[in-house]
Amino acid sequence: MVHGVPVRVTSQWFNPPTSKSLPLLLRYLAGKGIPADFQSETATSDALPPDVSIRPARGRYKGNAIGNAQNYLVRNILSRLGDEQFNALQWQAVVDAFGRACAYCGAEGDLVMDHVVPINKQALGEHRLGNLVPSCRACNARKAERDFREFLADDPVRVATIEAHMTSHGYEPIGDHAQLRTIIELAHQDVRNLADRYVAIINTVLTGKPDGTE
Ligand SMILES: [Zn+2]
Repeated sequence: MVHGVPVRVTSQWFNPPTSKSLPLLLRYLAGKGIPADFQSETATSDALPPDVSIRPARGRYKGNAIGNAQNYLVRNILSRLGDEQFNALQWQAVVDAFGRACAYCGAEGDLVMDHVVPINKQALGEHRLGNLVPSCRACNARKAERDFREFLADDPVRVATIEAHMTSHGYEPIGDHAQLRTIIELAHQDVRNLADRYVAIINTVLTGKPDGTE
């Protein structure tokens, strides 16, 4: 998972530093909406084998991944669009309508809220009742940031049930909206700029130089 998006990569794509594959990897990630500085986020991953030699990148092994804060901002913005309010009773009614079972596999028991259209800068889902279904934890984890139609590609009946749920609650997904996508991308970038600005200010206070060098 990079920036919350499932990707498929191999270590050869990073390695060695002169790898001709790196531009291809960056292009592949860009196609999935992942910025080229993704290395800062992989830096904290325990999944990286210790012996893999990777080109040193700005921000590696330095502090928290900014992507988390960026994604939270996007979620916050998208969840406030239209400012739809609903309460626990209304959510319970949705759970009941799905037979108190997972909307994706029918499992009963421990159910969580799942955004049918994910709340991220690619999918532009919203936090509305019509975009929420009960999900078992396994499906919630497996679906991750995928669209429900892709996740349920083999189950048109469940897709139709979820679409009926969306319609009955008046939820129309934003869909592929280039202008909105650009605005959300700006907000996403602003978080990094804001963090960079304050790091530079604090470094200047502490060391007299914005990059913190002595
Ligand atoms: Zn399930």
